[in-house]
Amino acid sequence: MLPLPPGSRIGILGGGQLGRMLALAAAPLGFRCHIFGPDDQPPAGQVTDRITIADYLDEAALNAFAASVDVVTLEFENVPATCLEFLAQRVPVRPGARALATAQDRLLEKDFANSVGAATAPYAAVDNLRDLQGAMAKIGSRAVLKTRRLGYDGKGQIMLDRGADLDQAWQTLGGTPSILEGYIPFDGEISVIAARATNGTIGAYPPIANHHRNHILDRSEVPADLNSVQADRAVAIAADLATALDYVGVLAVEMFVVGDDLLVNEIAPRVHNSGHWSIEGAVTSQFEQHIRAICGLPLGAMALRGRIEMQNLIGDDVEQVPSLLAEPGAHLHLYGKTEVRPGRKMGHVTRILPEGVLPKPTAP
Ligand code: AMP
Repeated sequence: MLPLPPGSRIGILGGGQLGRMLALAAAPLGFRCHIFGPDDQPPAGQVTDRITIADYLDEAALNAFAASVDVVTLEFENVPATCLEFLAQRVPVRPGARALATAQDRLLEKDFANSVGAATAPYAAVDNLRDLQGAMAKIGSRAVLKTRRLGYDGKGQIMLDRGADLDQAWQTLGGTPSILEGYIPFDGEISVIAARATNGTIGAYPPIANHHRNHILDRSEVPADLNSVQADRAVAIAADLATALDYVGVLAVEMFVVGDDLLVNEIAPRVHNSGHWSIEGAVTSQFEQHIRAICGLPLGAMALRGRIEMQNLIGDDVEQVPSLLAEPGAHLHLYGKTEVRPGRKMGHVTRILPEGVLPKPTAP
């Protein structure tokens, strides 16, 4: 059935800003999108002609959705695996249930990264208070307790120092299956966004430097300030993970930079906030690249159009819109969310920088 011809319909699980930007990228390639998710008024629904508002486990709604689309993808990684398995019996689902299951569970994710030779922080499974006490003794004086599932933007994790009240920490996370990770005093955080086509071809953007505010991505710069050995290694890690998962689509790998070492922190089986700059800053955006990959089309070029910075507009930052509109060359993207809440991603702005303005030059 691949490649999908123009006019085909792509089903997207989840209706947030990632789905919105995927749908906007699908249109010039001649594809239409159908958004499926439980939330009322999904931002992606404003730019598509079909939306289903239903639970991810509503089989009747999933059946109708599967019948109306030619391929299914996702913009939200906490879709239940059973939803993907149900859909996969009816329509191609890319990426597949295995990639999703691996990325949804921090323990499986770290085991998997290590199995393909990518280093991670030291970690141990924690299923009860005794495990936590044992893991704390093994991992060292500073550690981070994280729930295995459903954590994001710093939610579902607690920093623990020697002497911390472990009982209280365990209760605070709700006594759910977790992992304890060694605290990494990193020099920086980067991500690599890679794409893998149905024929196994892989491409990646240069590594991206990420800066967080209150555990939420605030700003990304590309290319990251890495030497060429580190940059090549970072891209190779992402490519190895994508190949080992037999992945189709765009995936993001977040890593800590510690001296010459790179430690995998998270794998996101989807387009990623740290790649939003690629809409104006790369020859092919991450959104178009994902659509190309899942529809069986060849990947586009991933070269940069310059040095680029992306700034998220979080909560009240959206008040900067008038001044951003007045700034020549600032590319503004608003996500169509009417209610402003602290910590809510309302939009982003991308700037392609004149050489030498930001950041420091890439080391030789
Ligand atoms: P995560 O939800 O795993 O992406 O973690 C959110 C943020 O917390 C990361 O981007 C880091 O800034 C910080 N963090 C997470 N795990 C660790 C760790 N093991 N050591 C140091 N900082 C961490």
